[in-house]
Amino acid sequence: MAKYVVDDEIQDLDFRKGEMDRELAPFDQIAPTKSRTIRIALLTEYCRPKAAPYHFYRDKFLRCNSPKDGPDAECCQHVQRSWTCVCLAVQYLNADRDGKLAPGSDIKHRVGYISLAKTAYAQLSEYQNEAPGCDLLYSKGDDDHYHFNGASSTPRWKQSPQREKVTADAMRWADGVKLTEKLGKKLSDVEWHRLIKTGTTLPEEEE
Ligand SMILES: [Zn+2]
Repeated sequence: MAKYVVDDEIQDLDFRKGEMDRELAPFDQIAPTKSRTIRIALLTEYCRPKAAPYHFYRDKFLRCNSPKDGPDAECCQHVQRSWTCVCLAVQYLNADRDGKLAPGSDIKHRVGYISLAKTAYAQLSEYQNEAPGCDLLYSKGDDDHYHFNGASSTPRWKQSPQREKVTADAMRWADGVKLTEKLGKKLSDVEWHRLIKTGTTLPEEEE
């Protein structure tokens, strides 16, 4: 039997103005490096954060299939389970190396998402509760852990001339579809079984 893969990432396009903006703009992860602290703000007012357990297996992020209060599915019996939260965010590209940016100044920005493990999520929750949407300094320590520090309770983007552009960029992802995809691919129990046993989710070829 011939195998084929349906690639649902491919789309039919017309040459329309704005198509690129809306449909093909990259939705990338925003993350600091050890040598570079970045300044960000969460955009939870446009899209609520999403969270799910997942497995990193064979170089892929795959959603966990165990029911919330049920017994472990096959994925959990074979692969260590992790948890992540993804959240819509804006990064200030023209903040200086310490993350400083004067109030009211022009901003260069990109809208993307941040991905948080439980510790970082807990740390971030404190700031979000105190000043929702505040500016944050996001850094990566020598221990490879991510850290947040408060930068200003009113986000700079809201005080900037680019305020409407940031809102428009955030609205592109407000339906949460792309954000949810970042939680990993969902496999059926059968696909998980095949993947663990044979290394592929496809059925064995019939000779
Ligand atoms: Zn699992």
